[in-house]
Amino acid sequence: MKCIVCKNGDTEPGNVTVSVDKHDTVVVIRDVPAQVCATCGEEYIDAQTMKQIEKLVESAQKAGMNFAVQHYHAA
Ligand SMILES: [Zn+2]
Repeated sequence: MKCIVCKNGDTEPGNVTVSVDKHDTVVVIRDVPAQVCATCGEEYIDAQTMKQIEKLVESAQKAGMNFAVQHYHAA
């Protein structure tokens, strides 16, 4: 798809690192599938992937972790 940020580049599938800072918990999730703009590097993560990220953040919160690094895995 066309990048909506630079309106110039095309996105390509890739893996990105996402960090979420929610309440008292910071979770870094690696290897998240995303579309990445080849020109400006903007990352696009689809809604289903975001939901899975939310679940990973919730499980870290339930485990009482303040900081966690996780690898993305599908549900
Ligand atoms: Zn772009």
